[in-house]
Amino acid sequence: MSYVSTRGGDAPATYAEIVLRGLAQDGGLFVPQSYPRVTPSELRRWRGLSYADLAFEVLRLFASGIDEEALRSLCRSTYTAQTYCNARPGQDASEITPLLWLEDGLGLLQLSNGPTLAFKDMAMQFLGALFEHLLGLQGRRLNILGATSGDTGSAAEYAMRGRRGIRVFMLSPYGRMSGFQRAQMYSLQDPNIFNIAVKGTFDQAQDIVKAVSNDHAFKASHAIGTVNSINWARVAAQTVYYFKGWLAAAGSDDEPVSFAVPSGNFGDVLAGWIARQMGLPVASLIVATNENDVLAEFFETGCYRPRDPAHTYVTSSPSMDISRASNFERYVFDVTGRSPERLRALWKELDEKGSFTLSGEDWERVKASGFCAGRSVHADRLRTIRGLWETSGVLVDPHTADGITVARRKRLPGVKCICLETAQPAKFASTIREAAGILPPVPSSCAGLEDRPQRFEVMEPDVRAVKDYIDRHTSEQ
Ligand SMILES: *Cc1c(COP(=O)(O)O)cnc(C)c1O
Repeated sequence: MSYVSTRGGDAPATYAEIVLRGLAQDGGLFVPQSYPRVTPSELRRWRGLSYADLAFEVLRLFASGIDEEALRSLCRSTYTAQTYCNARPGQDASEITPLLWLEDGLGLLQLSNGPTLAFKDMAMQFLGALFEHLLGLQGRRLNILGATSGDTGSAAEYAMRGRRGIRVFMLSPYGRMSGFQRAQMYSLQDPNIFNIAVKGTFDQAQDIVKAVSNDHAFKASHAIGTVNSINWARVAAQTVYYFKGWLAAAGSDDEPVSFAVPSGNFGDVLAGWIARQMGLPVASLIVATNENDVLAEFFETGCYRPRDPAHTYVTSSPSMDISRASNFERYVFDVTGRSPERLRALWKELDEKGSFTLSGEDWERVKASGFCAGRSVHADRLRTIRGLWETSGVLVDPHTADGITVARRKRLPGVKCICLETAQPAKFASTIREAAGILPPVPSSCAGLEDRPQRFEVMEPDVRAVKDYIDRHTSEQ
């Protein structure tokens, strides 16, 4: 299996080579030259596997350049009931992603039982183990630099804490995260984790990261890397839970099942698209957006029109407050015939006009691709949270509620539909209280989190100061 860039400028490379690189050199995203296929008899054979062994079977199809036994042990050390211990009472933590039926044919795949209570742990924990393995083989070090408004930063820190050869420098907007999110990140005492609280907004923090990354000399001399959602290893690791969910829900070897996915950067649902391309019987992929509905508009009209920052709204499902979905390029590459020339032309149009529209044959392929989409707004998510709580005693977080809202509207009659749970309600207590009038329970691994001592550096939004800080903390080996 080799990987190429969506923009056609990079030489084919292995999985082992691309995962530490992130973005391709030509600015495109790495994709497999072709998708591996899974046969019905393989699917049947995978029925009894543990999550870890299923992950091994799926990932070995992608992981060129990685020793198979090493991959198996990475999967087994990552997907343990101990790491994914935050299951709801009554749910089996050893399933890693237990499936809970909510109502007639509508299930909840619980992906948020990891250390930071969000689905990003599913791939990020694996990425941490993989990076440590690859860096160890190559005798290299990596200093991960990122900016976070909450979920991604904490998932990265919990995945990388204590790992040999890795340090994390994570910028966050000082005083602008919830108490729970702050405590999650700042209470980590591991010496390889550096929290930098920037006196400014998330966008300012993000701009600093971009400025540091664009200083190629600094980036090279300080071995700076990233872990953002375009990293192929994260996408590939996310395909595993589509297989797991389908195996748990499907009654026969070829029963089509739909998935509903709350979407921001299009990473989570892209993994479902890849699972479908691999031959998993996926009926439809239902994309749920919040008030930031760029993707819903695309799947309704064929027009992709990202908004500017002034028209990207702050909502009560904040991890989906994204206008430009960074993984969308991979899907567009596939549905426009996997042609780098065509992709480059579309992105040029996007840069020049702020939008592009797929029509003709391309639009036919979009319509045949199994996707549909809808939007859910504040009142919808409150109603869904309250309704589920009152009728079935299940609490869901605001993002998952967007997924359930849209799933109920768009699912096909008679076809089972699985909603992906992207976070636990404990992370968004104030919206849960507004919706259901109660405070969500906090899993025992996070009990007392906000009382633990915190460790972080407060800094002005200044590129020079951040570079100096990184320099000081990377000079000692
Ligand atoms: C990251 C995130 C999303 C969006 O996932 P994408 O892969 O960016 O589409 C949705 N909900 C929660 C809680 C998240 O943390």
